[in-house]
Amino acid sequence: MYDEKNIFAKILRNELPFDEVYQDEFSLFFNDINPQAKIHVLGIPKVKRVDFSDFIKNESNDNIISFFKSVDNVLDLLKVKKDGYRIITNSGKNGGQEVPHFHIHILAGDKVNTVI
Ligand code: AMP
Repeated sequence: MYDEKNIFAKILRNELPFDEVYQDEFSLFFNDINPQAKIHVLGIPKVKRVDFSDFIKNESNDNIISFFKSVDNVLDLLKVKKDGYRIITNSGKNGGQEVPHFHIHILAGDKVNTVI
């Protein structure tokens, strides 16, 4: 069940401030409030999906492609492709997910040592 009160839902409703990196019709990217690497950007689709599996199982192929193409656009924007990056998504208790709205972490800027 999607929790409407989660932090990213509030960000999407413009109830909380965020440090925007990029957005388009379907996706929003912003800097993590507690960065674990020199570059730490979060990416979320603008739909009510709890985690990766909920997103993949229940969104249309067009929406899934749109989101991951946007992730790739942000990698270009951040200019991290040459030196590399890490993309992580957490799910549930064992995955250490804090915010129950599907999101990916982009970590880059230096050698990434953190596992979020
Ligand atoms: P996860 O543990 O995968 O659910 O990651 C949630 C992430 O959201 C953490 O890295 C937090 O630092 C980040 N976070 C929490 N609140 C905010 C916020 N208001 N703006 C930006 N990032 C946030």
